[in-house]
Amino acid sequence: MHTTLFYVIIGLLLADALWGWILEELNRRSWAESVPDRLADVYPQDKFEKQKQYRRVNHRFGKISSTFSLVVLLVFLWFHGFALVDNWVLQYTDHWLWRPLIFFGIMGLASYIIGLPFDIYQTFVIEERFGFNKTTPKTFVSDQIKSLVLGAVIGGILLSLVIWFYHFAGKWFWLYAWVGLSLFMIFISKFYTTLILPLFNKQTPLEEGPLRKAIEEMSQKAGFALENVYVMDGSKRSTKANAFFSGFGKNKRIVLFDTLINDLEINEIVAVLAHEIGHYRLKHIIWGTILSVLQTGLTLYLLGWFVNEPALSQALGINEPVFHIGLIGFAILYSPVSEILGLGMNIFSRRNEFQADAFAGKHADAAALQSALKKISANALSNPTPHPWYVFFNYSHPPLLKRLEALDKVD
Ligand SMILES: [Zn+2]
Repeated sequence: MHTTLFYVIIGLLLADALWGWILEELNRRSWAESVPDRLADVYPQDKFEKQKQYRRVNHRFGKISSTFSLVVLLVFLWFHGFALVDNWVLQYTDHWLWRPLIFFGIMGLASYIIGLPFDIYQTFVIEERFGFNKTTPKTFVSDQIKSLVLGAVIGGILLSLVIWFYHFAGKWFWLYAWVGLSLFMIFISKFYTTLILPLFNKQTPLEEGPLRKAIEEMSQKAGFALENVYVMDGSKRSTKANAFFSGFGKNKRIVLFDTLINDLEINEIVAVLAHEIGHYRLKHIIWGTILSVLQTGLTLYLLGWFVNEPALSQALGINEPVFHIGLIGFAILYSPVSEILGLGMNIFSRRNEFQADAFAGKHADAAALQSALKKISANALSNPTPHPWYVFFNYSHPPLLKRLEALDKVD
């Protein structure tokens, strides 16, 4: 028997898929005929044509694969597939840890097998055709085995911890998890550059010289007591140039990627740093932390509701609420829920980017920031003219052209 909530779930899944396709379609159609004049110097026409073609092929393929997995999920839901698998597991064990672990193991393996043909096609047909593929069939197979084993081990351990935690904390587990995660997030943001980053990259204080002098002059003008400027060996892993600001209080420091120093002129680097200082001075960092703590709380509260609500387990074909069934229900509804929760964060974040750009324009040099943004973003450019709706729902940063236009008005 199917309950009302069952049809609500189906309706949400269909609406979410349809909405995603509409946005993708709008975005695909808003590709310009040729590269906008302003970006012509960093985005060659032939690279643009290739990206356009590549995105078109991926768009079509994405439509096919997402339709396929949606249909599989709907059929599975219709026949109470989760309850069937759970009942099958129950024949062997009803242990509080083994039952959910085996259940998720079966689910994970099944979804891996369903996704595998699409993965193979993506790698060896699409990526191959555009010359992006560097994987041989042999590497592919060994990568797959490695990630399966790693996924099983790490996923198994994490899942056991979550199940154990729920078993021990009971129905208020979401509240404990929220407090724990929030403290962890604050701890990480305070100590990220001193404790975590050194595990992966080396940071050295920026040496005395014209760059250091220019940075100090700007930060004084921007009303920012700058003590720690570090250079990080970002080139070890990626060609992307970046700079970021981290920590608060005495731990705050600015970290420059060595790629940024190599690729940009001094006044451009100073403008990028002024943008980062802008985020700090305009309180974006503190508000961003508060908002993500709230967002985490709301998400965990919903998870708690899913896990404790008998109606949800019934909608999925099981009579009493069970943790792992609630978790599955949460997982399949996570995408529509997180899209709604993420929307506010995206609006907030795009507004902050414009404000930090304006701050940099005022305390450093708007034209220098424009040329820096062009250099930094050139590698990642795909659609230079994304559809406004697509931007509204998906972008955490404003599109490059919009940022350049806004900087024209700053002086
Ligand atoms: Zn920013």
